[in-house]
Amino acid sequence: MTALTVLEIALPTPLRRRFDYLPPADTVPEQLQPGQRVRVPFGPQRLVGLILRVKATSDIPLSQLRAAEALLDAEPLMPEDVWQLCLWAADYYQHPIGDALHTALPALLRQGEAAREKGEKYWRLTTEGKGLPEGALKRAPRQAELLAALQQRGQLNRADLTLLGIGSPAVKALADKQLIESTEQVFTPEESPEILGESPLPLNAEQQTALNQIPIGGFHISLLDGATGSGKTEVYLQAIARVLARGQQALVLVPEIGLTPQTLSRFQRRFRCTVVALHSGMNDRERLDAWVQARDGRARIIIGTRSAIFTPLANPGILIVDEEHDSSFKQQDGFRYSARDLAALRARRLNIPLILGSATPALESLHNARTGRYQYLRLAHRAGQAQAPTVHLQDIRRQPLDSGFSEETIGRIRRTLDRGNQVLVFLNRRGYAPTLECTECGWLAECHHCDTRMTLHQSPRHLHCHHCDHQRAVPRYCPSCHSTRLQPVGQGTERSEEALTRHFPGTRVLRVDRDSTRQKHAFHELLTEIHSGEPCILVGTQMLAKGHHFPDVTLVVILDADAGLFSTDFRGPEKMGQLLLQVAGRAGRAEKPGEVILQTHHRDHPLVRTLMERGYHPFAEMILSERRLTQLPPFRQMALIRAESKRPENAVAFLRHVRQLAEQYHPANHELGYLGPLPAMLEKRGDRFRYQLQVNAAQRKTLHGLLSRLAPELEQHPLAKRTRWSIDVDPQDMS
Ligand code: ADP
Ligand code: ZN
Ligand code: ZN
Repeated sequence: MTALTVLEIALPTPLRRRFDYLPPADTVPEQLQPGQRVRVPFGPQRLVGLILRVKATSDIPLSQLRAAEALLDAEPLMPEDVWQLCLWAADYYQHPIGDALHTALPALLRQGEAAREKGEKYWRLTTEGKGLPEGALKRAPRQAELLAALQQRGQLNRADLTLLGIGSPAVKALADKQLIESTEQVFTPEESPEILGESPLPLNAEQQTALNQIPIGGFHISLLDGATGSGKTEVYLQAIARVLARGQQALVLVPEIGLTPQTLSRFQRRFRCTVVALHSGMNDRERLDAWVQARDGRARIIIGTRSAIFTPLANPGILIVDEEHDSSFKQQDGFRYSARDLAALRARRLNIPLILGSATPALESLHNARTGRYQYLRLAHRAGQAQAPTVHLQDIRRQPLDSGFSEETIGRIRRTLDRGNQVLVFLNRRGYAPTLECTECGWLAECHHCDTRMTLHQSPRHLHCHHCDHQRAVPRYCPSCHSTRLQPVGQGTERSEEALTRHFPGTRVLRVDRDSTRQKHAFHELLTEIHSGEPCILVGTQMLAKGHHFPDVTLVVILDADAGLFSTDFRGPEKMGQLLLQVAGRAGRAEKPGEVILQTHHRDHPLVRTLMERGYHPFAEMILSERRLTQLPPFRQMALIRAESKRPENAVAFLRHVRQLAEQYHPANHELGYLGPLPAMLEKRGDRFRYQLQVNAAQRKTLHGLLSRLAPELEQHPLAKRTRWSIDVDPQDMS
């Protein structure tokens, strides 16, 4: 009797379960390894899963096991380090393993596509075709021509056929007669022995010190804390050059909106090797090709957004996370991993260095640097000629404002334009106005599906809920008192654009937000116009804040600095400070000196004052000491268990049950605390009522231990089916 082989398989289902199958009929046990994909029957469906374990027994009676249908990979799909990273992350973030693995893979691999690059199609003669006597096919001159060309040249691709003027009917005819066949070939560019495409900039003293302290080889995390324009990217480039010289690869993570064509071309100009990007703007085939090139080592530099942390690397040498504080590195739904934190783990496993760079490091990272877990590298000055901008804190409490602009601000904008420079106006609210009000009775345009107001949009004119996407026509009369006195309240980018166009009729006003850039090339076109250098005014949301280099912008206006200051999310002030400095950092990035105007109602608020008068570090210090007092991250570990349902009592009852169960496993004490269930910041959204239970712990281990016991239990609970629930470990967004 031969030993039994059972495959334990991870499938993309929301269940925290592993599934047992028998191996595909045409395989032998020696072929089967963890990490390979298989196609399996699952109810009436076919799913692609990954083998987690090859084992000799199953808890399920043998007669009930179904057989997998096909083995899709001859080898494990990912290298061991990425495989382990996925398994670890699924466990740490309490996410079902099958779904976690699927999140980590390019879409085509999830669908069972072969893990190789799509080559170019070539046509060549079959044995039969080669044996054809000369002068055959006389009656079909096109086919004869193709035959002759193939006899002469061996193979032809689409471009060759076009040049020869041979159309597809002739190709199809020969293929049907089985005289020719197609093959696929991947073009591999020859590696240039010279790595550099342009000379590196001579580093200034700070940059040189930083570079010298980044070791090559060996695990090490450095926090590169440098103001915008201080030359962090130049340090990355030179650290990467060293890694490439050793024949290794570099993986660079950037925020979602940081991966601009500018960023990519800066890397491509510097290096002669293959640089690939991985981002959401690519189609599935392009993403898979980049993934394969990275895995096989043909791509030497990989630049990508969050999910690129799972890119396999043949020969990894360094990991870099740029703008490491950016919240887009944390996935906010499904598999809620933090790419930045996983980068630290991956670097440790691979025994290679990691650079975390930012002008406004996350408080967690500053804390890690302070406690010695990260090496701290500082670039305090702007590189090259650029100077730090001058900041004017403008008290707008008793000033008349015109659509949000003070007279002084308008005057400064005018002077800037007169000097031939560009202005950037920042307002993190799209639409025309945050809401519409009846001045007779006080009625406000509220969303019927959420606890929130609807935003008034002018082009096209409608009311729009930014939380649930519900849209309505703008009423002509107040629905409550029938008055016609309906007025927009507050400012959005459309309204700022309107006001600026009115004040500066001869100047181009370019609005950059999610609405104005919805069309495919719109953002790119706007950027091109900005880079032409003509005097203009940019008005926009945080899309303008990050990663861009606008050499002709010398004045940045922040219309409303106070949003975020009084947020109920404990990270509100930290994020506000980071965003303000990122925006301010757009001013005077080149030779021209820059100015920043910050309009505020809270000039004397200690956080605003500290940030603007003394800078980010004293500001961060202040928030950190508050967090220490209030026992919040990074001084405590936190997880959020969220639940939402159409009937509020279901979600609340579910979370009460969670808390009860949790307290059975671990009563509240100084090691572990519970808070809730409490309503979420937006209690009702899209007709669902939302609640959360906060769990905080002194030690990561304690928290993880508790959650690991809870998660499988919760899944079984009858109320779990009537609520949408999730666990968020190290939550970044408390809403
Ligand atoms: P960061 O990434 O910190 O925002 P960059 O590396 O983009 O900074 O540098 C900002 C500007 O300064 C760029 O135009 C860059 O070319 C220039 N720069 C960087 N390092 C130097 C240097 N050592 N000498 C001269 N110019 C530099
Ligand atoms: Zn009214
Ligand atoms: Zn809504």
